[in-house]
Amino acid sequence: MSRPPALTDPLLDTLRGRVCASTSDTHTSTEVFTGGELAVLPASSVTDVRTAYERASRAQREWAARPVEDRLAVFHRFHELLLRDREILVDLLQAETGKARRDAFEELCEPALVTSYYLRTARKLLRPKRRAGLMPGAIGVTELRQPKGVVGIISPWNYPFALALGDLIPALIAGNGVVCKPDSQTALSPLFGADLLYRAGLPEDLLQMVLGDGPTIGGAVVDTCDYVGFTGSTRTGALIAARAGERLIGCSLELGGKNPMIVLDDADIAATARSAVRGCFANAGQLCLALERIYVPDAIFDRFAAAFVAEVGRLRQAAGYSYGADVGSLTSRRALKTVSEHVDDARAKGATVLAGGRPRTDLGPFFYEPTVLTDVTPDMLCHASETFGPVVTLYPYATEDEAVALANDTDYGLNASVYGRDPVRARRVAARLRTGTVNVNDGYAAAFGSTDAPMGGMGASGLGRRHGAAGLLRYTEVQSVAAQRVDLVNPPRWLPHGVYSRLMAATLRVMKKTRLR
Ligand code: NAD
Repeated sequence: MSRPPALTDPLLDTLRGRVCASTSDTHTSTEVFTGGELAVLPASSVTDVRTAYERASRAQREWAARPVEDRLAVFHRFHELLLRDREILVDLLQAETGKARRDAFEELCEPALVTSYYLRTARKLLRPKRRAGLMPGAIGVTELRQPKGVVGIISPWNYPFALALGDLIPALIAGNGVVCKPDSQTALSPLFGADLLYRAGLPEDLLQMVLGDGPTIGGAVVDTCDYVGFTGSTRTGALIAARAGERLIGCSLELGGKNPMIVLDDADIAATARSAVRGCFANAGQLCLALERIYVPDAIFDRFAAAFVAEVGRLRQAAGYSYGADVGSLTSRRALKTVSEHVDDARAKGATVLAGGRPRTDLGPFFYEPTVLTDVTPDMLCHASETFGPVVTLYPYATEDEAVALANDTDYGLNASVYGRDPVRARRVAARLRTGTVNVNDGYAAAFGSTDAPMGGMGASGLGRRHGAAGLLRYTEVQSVAAQRVDLVNPPRWLPHGVYSRLMAATLRVMKKTRLR
């Protein structure tokens, strides 16, 4: 058994106890740095998912009736506990994903930022709002935000804590119960997050954790819950949208990307190269927002390529539970296989490997070197499909229009990046890109860390947005309550309908002109 220092037997028992599972089935997760056994966790059945839904639903009624201030008090305490216990969490995250410690620490910042953002804004976002009635004084209209009920959160393995907690916290704040299904390989950190929330005072049963295989247990979550917040691949997202559509429930889908970066000809080459390595190789490239395509002007291509490759050469890749490594491991054998296939295919078809290009099994079973390719053509796997690993391709371009067209030449539309000294020009180019977020002079953190701004994907990268008002309000139903004081719609008995309709037509004309409403 290979375990990080923080994963003691009592902690493991506590985390196991947070899974809603009634059978003796189990799943064994892997300690990624060594490939050894990490933890044996209970597996849920379809019946357990229904039980989880019913428990969460019962607890939700009382929770939704509480004033928002009372609900927020739990998240104040959660935020404190999260920062206090951060090193335990970082250990768990590293063990189950193989990420570098700095990436694991960066991951816990997302739920911390999301929590403090909604602590500041939820009261205002959720409070009833007066809307204009048909006629002032005659009808008083109030817009209410009702919780959906029980929200299903289905999350992937690459940022297992950030993506589960960052999405389920606003669902709870909005007054919902939650059934959360993380990936089984990376369940320790979301279970730890659930435990922190309960220690912070979340009512018993409101948040249910279920574990198991995606199609069966994830499918059961979609078949039972009242709304689904999904993060994962585009292929699974499409299945979930279809299934949610059959039940006429809403869903938000945060999916894959093939994210472009444009270097403008006025960019500071050294600073751009230094910043871009983080955008490409954070979390060993297993980041939905990671940059996989870099477009560089012909005139500075060679200089930029040399500076970028030099920066890549400075990255320290290592296993271990201490700060120091810049790049960690891939999370699974499957990820290593995809990355190796993409690079080998590109090399075999004539691409040039400027840096990396090999697995590093001397460091750990799933490590792969940060890799830079050029001369990549459309027949190569890594040209258009998501590699989701530490592989980036440099492409030359002649004009700004060509760079924009190449960047937009994809079904995806998640994240993009533009580097240049002239901020007005860089923002103008940014606005021409078809992606949900664009970072100017940064890879991804500027947009992702700005929790007041919505974030999500266009096209094959998803539907809906997390963060900002949209990230909370997606978990609510809008209800308009119109209280009539004077009956304007039904004419008095003594007034003939013909006269009434003429009077109404005249009134409608006046209302258009005077905006009398
Ligand atoms: P995945 O789609 O295979 O799995 C994601 C989750 O869905 C897992 O919990 C899985 O068990 C579950 N699942 C699988 N099949 C299911 C089904 N038929 N019904 C219900 N649930 C099912 O994705 P993955 O490989 O775990 O994650 C990597 C992908 O996620 C990449 O494409 C990456 O770009 C994307 N991603 C997107 C974002 C974003 O915010 N846009 C963030 C992280 C990852």
